[in-house]
This record gives sequence, structure tokens and C-alpha cells, in this order.
Amino acid sequence: MSDKFTITFLGTSSASPQVERRQSSVAIKYRNHNLLVDVGEATQVQLLKHKIGFSNLTILLTHLHSDHTLGLIGLLTTRSFYNISRSITIIGPPWTSSFIFLQLLAYRLYPEYDIKVIETNGGLVLSNSDFYIESFPVSHGDNCLGYKIVTHKSLGVFNVDRALNKNIPKGKKWKKLQEGYPVEIDNKTIFPSEILDISNKKQTKIVITGDTPLDDNVINNSANADLLIHDSTYPIIETERAKKHKHSTCTDAAFVAKRANVKKLILTHFSELHKNLTETLRNAKEIFPDSVLAYDGLVIEI
Ligand SMILES: [Zn+2]
Ligand SMILES: [Zn+2]
Repeated sequence: MSDKFTITFLGTSSASPQVERRQSSVAIKYRNHNLLVDVGEATQVQLLKHKIGFSNLTILLTHLHSDHTLGLIGLLTTRSFYNISRSITIIGPPWTSSFIFLQLLAYRLYPEYDIKVIETNGGLVLSNSDFYIESFPVSHGDNCLGYKIVTHKSLGVFNVDRALNKNIPKGKKWKKLQEGYPVEIDNKTIFPSEILDISNKKQTKIVITGDTPLDDNVINNSANADLLIHDSTYPIIETERAKKHKHSTCTDAAFVAKRANVKKLILTHFSELHKNLTETLRNAKEIFPDSVLAYDGLVIEI
């Protein structure tokens, strides 16, 4: 199984329709976990195009603006058409539950699978065997979130033979060693390094901001990330408009990447006011050299 995240950009436009870009959606795959961050209009078609299944998805909504959510009810409906019985978890800001269930009621849709909704305003929202996800508020408006996805720390793989050779009884002492603490056996201290096959695997951290203006909270939460996916709605010539609509320019995003000391920045959520994306990229790279422009269909491995 691959030890990398595969990130597929399904939609990279801001709110207004564009011929070459669909509305916001990013698929993130790690081992057997499939996350979908936002579900703009046309997300279903993009999932089909990129051969990403509908059944094993966990959905994260950054906020409830229509350019991030118009595809959601369609996707839930298609799951019913496909007779998918597996439950689905949808994580989003406060009101997400009412937002979904009122729409299902209006459409008279009654899916036979469970829809589990987790509403969050910041903090831990999910933890599985491989990674955890935390949300954090961003100042695009009320109830707007960014997410960080971080793999668990791994001290090393527990070597059972070595533990048995040293007469360490199975149970609490094994657990303590696995967690990195020494244990006492026959008045002798055994250190984790004697039992664990020490791992040199680093944690991987991915941050996706959703819509956001330049925001200190984004900088703090993005610290040392391997990848930052940041709002870049406007070119620098539209700085005033970016402030007014609580979005970022390409240079705002680059400034955040630099301040947060991230490894790689991907700019997305472009408005049609970017007449020249080559210039947008050049402006971003002047501040943060490892900047990349997202496009529909871009796949990145981290
Ligand atoms: Zn948006
Ligand atoms: Zn928005």
C-alpha cells in the first residue's frame, strides 16, 4: 500500500462558472481512506472521470457557500441510485446537518444508508489508524473552516520476539514501550529503543484553507506543513476586492506559505479576473518559490 497521499483537484474555480474550471472540490486518498473536501457543482462528473468511487467517501465541507456544496445532494442521490448501503460521514461547520436534511426533505429523498454528520467549529474531528483531522476557523465569514490532515507519529514497529526474549509480559508493559516509555523488568530498565524497530517515517501534514482572506490563524495552523492548499481567488491588482470579499490574492497565499514555513503551496479557487495566470504564478513565486497553480485534473503525491 502506498505511503503517500494522492491529491486530485476536481474543481479549482471560484464562485462564477468557467469553461475550463469546475467549482471547488479536492479528493484526497491515503491507503484505503478517501476524503472529499467540498463538493461544488459537477463534482460527480469529475469523480467519474477520475475513477474515484462514490461508496467509500468521507466528506469535509469548509463552509456552506453554494460553490462548495451544490454537488452534495446530487452525490447523495446517486449513492441511492447505485444502491450503496455503506454509511457516509459528512464533516462541516455548524448548520451542516440542517442544511443537508432540509434539502433531502425538499427533494423528497430518503437515502437508505446512514448519513452521519459531524459539526465542528475547530478542533479534532476524525482520527483513524493512519491520520487525524482537525478543523480551524478562518475569517471568510461565519462558520468557515480550514482543515489540517496529519499522519500519526510512529515511534516504530513493536518487535514481539525481542520483547519475549527479554521476558516482558504481554499487556500494559508492551503498550508503554510502544508509546515510548521505559519499563522495569526484574529491577532492570528496558528502553523502547531495545524493543521497537525504530521508524524514520516522518509525520505528513496537509492543510487546506477553503475560502479565506489573509489570516493569522491560517498561518499558525499551517506551520511546517508539507502541503498548503490556499485560496488564491484574485490577482494582486484586485487586492481591494479580495479584502472586501474576504478572499486572498495570489501573493497573500504566498505570504502565508512563507510565514508558515510550508514545503509546497498550491494556489486554487481562481476567479475569471486572473487574465494571465503565468503572471499570477510569477507573483507568487517571487515570495514563495515552491508555488504551483491548481487546475482541474492536477494530481499531486505527498
Ligand atoms: Zn468559494
Ligand atoms: Zn465562500
